[in-house]
Amino acid sequence: MTAPGLTTAMDLKSHIREVPDFPKAGILFYDITTLLRQPSGLKAVIDALTAPYAGDGIDVVVGIESRGFILGAPVAERLGAGFVPMRKPGKLPARSVRAEFSLEYGSDALEVHEDAMHAGQRVLIVDDVLATGGTARAAAQLVRRTGGQLQGLAFLIELQMLNGIAKLEGEQVFSVLQY
Ligand code: AMP
Repeated sequence: MTAPGLTTAMDLKSHIREVPDFPKAGILFYDITTLLRQPSGLKAVIDALTAPYAGDGIDVVVGIESRGFILGAPVAERLGAGFVPMRKPGKLPARSVRAEFSLEYGSDALEVHEDAMHAGQRVLIVDDVLATGGTARAAAQLVRRTGGQLQGLAFLIELQMLNGIAKLEGEQVFSVLQY
């Protein structure tokens, strides 16, 4: 089924499935597959993520594994930019740099090819959800360590109660939907 003309935030939210206790007890998971499977939903999401950056001269969009890949690549194409994947450890084939970050329990890391960005390139980071902000902060560190000029971070969803924005002080942060 395709919803015609998904335009407002309420429209978009009404097509995001909220799954309690996934992947573990106490987490309310925002499942965007129910939005993206609809042509009008996919278009509205990419329109909304792209609009603030039109004319900003973005050279590279960085997508964070894995839902950041789904959103980041079409945003990059729309902006006339290239796309760079930022991945979980051990997935990239060539020499990479790594940033580690702490999660609620334990830690995780992100990697990017060390030659993925050229010095001075204007970079936009894209991901689906800004939660505690640890992932996004590590991504921002990697952009700078590989020479990119970080212009901003764009998310489909910001979970405001988790205050991830505090970990991104000094950055330009945009979110389409806030919960
Ligand atoms: P964080 O580092 O806490 O900001 O977590 C951000 C990453 O975890 C993003 O890449 C999201 O895909 C994922 N994530 C965190 N919380 C949720 C949630 N409630 N629903 C869906 N994805 C989430």
